[in-house]
Amino acid sequence: MTDFTWTRAQFQLPHGVIYLDGNSLGPLPTATPARLEKALRDEWGAELIKGWNSCGWMAMPGRLGDRVGRLIGAVPGHTVIGDTLSIKVFQALSAALNLRPDRRVILSDTGNFPSDLYMAEGLIKLLGDRYELRLVAPEEVADAITDEIAVTLITEVDYRTGRRHDMPALTARAHQHGALAIWDLAHSAGALPVHVTRDKADFAVGCTYKYLNAGPGAPAFIYVAPEHADRAEPVLSGWLGHAAPFDFDLGYRAGDGIERMRVGTPPVLQMAALETALDIWDRVEMADLRARSLALTDRFIAAVEARCPSLALATPRDNDARGSQVSFRHPQGYAIMQALIARGVIGDFRAPDILRFGICPLYIGEADIDAAADHLAQILDTAAWDRPEYLQRKAVT
Ligand SMILES: *Cc1c(COP(=O)(O)O)cnc(C)c1O
Repeated sequence: MTDFTWTRAQFQLPHGVIYLDGNSLGPLPTATPARLEKALRDEWGAELIKGWNSCGWMAMPGRLGDRVGRLIGAVPGHTVIGDTLSIKVFQALSAALNLRPDRRVILSDTGNFPSDLYMAEGLIKLLGDRYELRLVAPEEVADAITDEIAVTLITEVDYRTGRRHDMPALTARAHQHGALAIWDLAHSAGALPVHVTRDKADFAVGCTYKYLNAGPGAPAFIYVAPEHADRAEPVLSGWLGHAAPFDFDLGYRAGDGIERMRVGTPPVLQMAALETALDIWDRVEMADLRARSLALTDRFIAAVEARCPSLALATPRDNDARGSQVSFRHPQGYAIMQALIARGVIGDFRAPDILRFGICPLYIGEADIDAAADHLAQILDTAAWDRPEYLQRKAVT
């Protein structure tokens, strides 16, 4: 059994804050400052360039990749850390297209995060506009998977509504039609159990600064299924994905398996933060996390719906059909969220009208859920949101 009292004690949340935005940026683990201090002073400071060997920096992307891999059901040796999620989307997509050379259509949906779509557009342009990015409504994805599709590029959990796709079913359908399936797990990794190997995802990508708590700008991860690992073409052919980086060959030869998905010098300090965050995850069972996440999200939905009739639930009620966040719509969503944040309840807003609440059982409990619902009800009952300082949009919402 996961001890959620213990996990909660592993985070340093500001006093009086109820943090419901760990789906966007996870909070600081208490052990991270000391680990970073050590990485700075004892590793970088003392070891200088020797640290690449003596501190194991060069092997960190694979070592931490496997620890993230456990959380997404990946067989060891097939997940690596590096770059940003947008870059990993580009890598996965270009490799997948190369594995389906006779097909020209990339299928995604209108619930996907824009960066994934923008990366696809950029890749298509680079490839001479020979490909089509086909976007359908999320509920139409299954029917849109036909023999034309080269690859499906789908984010499992919708960043706005929390709606969750049926990953095994869509992957199976993609394979029946000869397509490959890329899964973006940005809102799944650390949010719910994922089984990339069992469910036969061809590629999976995600980030570590959301539910995994590795800090702002922490690197992404990529998983490549074992059957593709040595065939996937690394289009971003950087020297650390080379078979022998320190031979300094003039020509590129792809490294073995997942190593080829590395590009350049890894972000050692940010990986030290990831390592510390993963120490917490090592003591979390994903089934326990899911059970508690569903209990807390159900509780939040019930409390808000009972007391805030002007909010419309945007998240599916069906437990299987959602991730670990709850979203509501309101025309004044932005100002309401600002008023909530002013009271120490931190969620966020996504245009045009969505209030998002990430519910992460590692550090959120029943009392937080009840208090957050209380604040929300009070703000709506008294129109406390209707003040100029709450209506003024900031750059990051
Ligand atoms: C958060 C998120 C991203 C962000 O990509 P970065 O390159 O890390 O900024 C991309 N895709 C999805 C689905 C996301 O949720």
